[in-house]
Amino acid sequence: MVPIDPIRIILVGTQHPGNIGSAARAMKTMGLSQLILVAPKRFPDPEANALAAGAEDIVQQARVVETLDEALHGCRFALGTTARDRAISLPEHTPREAAAALLEHTETGGQAALLFGRERTGLDNDELMRCHGRVFIPCNPDYASLNLASAVQVLSYEIRLRRLELGLLPAKVPVLDESEPASLDQLERMFMHLGEFMDEIDFHKGRSPDMINQRLRRLFLRARMDEREIKIIRGMLSDAQRLLAQKK
Ligand code: SAH
Repeated sequence: MVPIDPIRIILVGTQHPGNIGSAARAMKTMGLSQLILVAPKRFPDPEANALAAGAEDIVQQARVVETLDEALHGCRFALGTTARDRAISLPEHTPREAAAALLEHTETGGQAALLFGRERTGLDNDELMRCHGRVFIPCNPDYASLNLASAVQVLSYEIRLRRLELGLLPAKVPVLDESEPASLDQLERMFMHLGEFMDEIDFHKGRSPDMINQRLRRLFLRARMDEREIKIIRGMLSDAQRLLAQKK
């Protein structure tokens, strides 16, 4: 069985089931899986599954509870996201700080929660008071309210970044082309080849080649070439030399 993620994403009073599906998708893209729904207006609902687009497992495993108390049961730490200032004094965090705090509190095996509010009215003050702090996604002050699932995406991404930073996840980046970085002598041989070729086409026309050679070296070294790239350049030079020889 896959272990339960120690970070709970709690959606409070969600009105549109489509947002539940989109939030599940946002979570799954970032490797989160524990979704709790507090008194959703319409759930289960085909629209939630439709918008989950491949993250239906998260939607199906979502726990539905009636109260925030039930959703927070067993959690050691909670943060609430809000789109605007409230007349409530709570420490405010950026998404980055929030991700760090959530992971810090789950380090020793505890559970932590991240709350998201209703589409229209957000989290109410009583709900926010249950949290250790609030999280605001910095954005356009004239239009600060993100779609619920977009807010889930931003926070889930920050949690993933932090997990990568902490080495809690394998950093899998799709590799297009696996080739070893070129060695210094492979580079030297390419520079020699290039020098030969430039002489053959009389590129320098009697001038000293030093300045051009320095610039070309700088250019190619900056590119941190790999073995295959060196082969391509040298292959081109050889072909050009062959054609020149044929012409002569
Ligand atoms: N008018 C509501 C907007 C709710 S948007 C309000 O003032 O709260 C729905 C939910 O998305 C919010 O409750 C919050 O959880 C999240 N959200 C939207 N924009 C956000 C932002 N800029 N920062 C943090 N959370 C945000």
